[in-house]
Amino acid sequence: MTTEFPTGLPFDEALAIVREVAGRHRLGEETLPLARCHGRVLAQDVHAPIALPPFDNSAMDGFAFRHADLHGAETALRLAGEQFAGSAQDRALGPGECVRITTGAPLPPGADTVAIKERCRVEGERVLVPGDTPAGANVRRAGEDASAGEHVLRAGEALTPARVSLAAALGLAALPAARRPTVAVFTTGDELVEPGLPLPPGRIYDSNRELLMGLLRADGLEPTAWPRLPDDPARLATMLCDAAAHFDLVVTCGAVSAGEKDHIPALLRRLGRIHFWKVRMKPGMPLLFGALEQARFLGLPGNPVSVLATWLTLGRALVDGLQGRAAPRPRLYARLTAPVEKAHPRREFLRGRLQGAADGSLKVAPSGATGSHRLCAAAEADVLIVVPEGPQRCAAGTVLEVLPLPGAF
Ligand code: AMP
Ligand code: MG
Repeated sequence: MTTEFPTGLPFDEALAIVREVAGRHRLGEETLPLARCHGRVLAQDVHAPIALPPFDNSAMDGFAFRHADLHGAETALRLAGEQFAGSAQDRALGPGECVRITTGAPLPPGADTVAIKERCRVEGERVLVPGDTPAGANVRRAGEDASAGEHVLRAGEALTPARVSLAAALGLAALPAARRPTVAVFTTGDELVEPGLPLPPGRIYDSNRELLMGLLRADGLEPTAWPRLPDDPARLATMLCDAAAHFDLVVTCGAVSAGEKDHIPALLRRLGRIHFWKVRMKPGMPLLFGALEQARFLGLPGNPVSVLATWLTLGRALVDGLQGRAAPRPRLYARLTAPVEKAHPRREFLRGRLQGAADGSLKVAPSGATGSHRLCAAAEADVLIVVPEGPQRCAAGTVLEVLPLPGAF
């Protein structure tokens, strides 16, 4: 069923369609060495094969001993040896003894407490240990972080550096990760000129290619930039079908509105399919989502702020869904520092700058610039402010959702 909405599909319905289609086209999984897992989505649950820490060890540089040996303000213990990180626990501790120990070194059998170096005095073979050292102080217990068999990572989670590092700590050299969609990126328009070349009259530089490539890379993708496309239906059809036969996702920008040169909707109608065309959002209204050959197809409008708003919402939802990313991305809310007003019923995305406030709240200053072509205002912004549907005036102090711009934080 072709779904074209002259006044635009409600944003939430568009999002639901994107998620549903992505769910039906989930990409497979592959086992990757940890170095290649960063930014991927974990495809299967991970249970800890060993305990973390694997053995009781010292949290500080100091002296390990039995807490029961302490008495009075200071106890003299016999220095019986040394225990360094990396060596096995080869020596049990006798009563009244202590060993010099370094951070991460295994606790000798019999020892249960560590006093930090700075609070002890060494006098030849004796170590004077403060009597107020609590039992079990400065000891990291085996399994206190994770016990063997514990469910530590969940399918659908994004593999952040800390999660990949947890897998490494557990001795895992590889993880099952969702295949990342291959993405072909096209910019379109007879007016576009490659940056670095002279600018003939009436032409503009292609800025969206860098915008899109940067946005996609920030989402962990490795997009391929295809040659820039002229506003020529035959060339568009050949190149887009070629890309769509080989890539999981084709992202275009421009040529999706209702102008004479906006050939993409007709092309998709003829050669592929359209899930929806036009969403009740501003900017970004002419967004087209469909399929061509074996690829999902996302036709973004040409204005730079439209690219930001459509990619950060629906584009990202699509690639998240294709990879089975289950955990929702955290949502941020901030108080407006100045009123914003809109007369139209669409969801609007404004540029803004986020400021942390001393009272613990987040504040956001809306940019005065309107117009989705205003790149300087986009370059100054660090968030998009989401103004909900319906004509309305949001007074200063109103709490609205904000979408962080990639790389800004
Ligand atoms: P379109 O949707 O193709 O009519 O494009 C809408 C507006 O965005 C026009 O002003 C285009 O010149 C501009 N535009 C389209 N693509 C790009 C691009 N790659 N870089 C910079 N501006 C663009
Ligand atoms: Mg165009």
